[in-house]
Amino acid sequence: MNAENQVIPEDPTPKLYCYNHPQRETMLRCNRCNRPICSECAVLTPTGYRCRECIRGQQKTFDTARAFDYPLAVVVAGVISFLGSYLAGFLWFFILMAAPIVGVIIAEAVRWVVHRRRSRLLSQVTTVAVVVGSLPLLVVALLPLFMGNPLSSLITLLLRGAYTALVTTSFYYRLTGIQLGR
Ligand SMILES: [Zn+2]
Ligand SMILES: [Zn+2]
Repeated sequence: MNAENQVIPEDPTPKLYCYNHPQRETMLRCNRCNRPICSECAVLTPTGYRCRECIRGQQKTFDTARAFDYPLAVVVAGVISFLGSYLAGFLWFFILMAAPIVGVIIAEAVRWVVHRRRSRLLSQVTTVAVVVGSLPLLVVALLPLFMGNPLSSLITLLLRGAYTALVTTSFYYRLTGIQLGR
């Protein structure tokens, strides 16, 4: 009675072959374009397997920065960071609280001058610019260290170091956090 059922093994899932390697049978599909991919072509992402083509396409949409965005963003980030560190010399305690806000301001200014174009390299380069912009006055603060007033310049140095760290981290998270969230 069951014989008939057994003789006709209807295969519900037709065999899949990798679209890059037509001779390779596979059970995976790219979860974006839905094409079959073999284990060699599959890239495991947080949302599942994807083919390399889709991964590349994805990176391209994240990578919209143009060449002239880099010098522009670097100058803006460096100058505001420097101005912030200059003000920090007058208003230490206020600035230490304000440093994270300065970081956010720099991030918004950078996004504005590059018309919200973005790339991973742009984030990295501008983060370096923020650090570099805060350094000249930190180096100046170092000088009295060798000129006979070590304690006060040590305090200045610590505060300037804290300013650099706070501005840089808040800048970086603001810039990249928005990238990831969008
Ligand atoms: Zn795909
Ligand atoms: Zn393949």
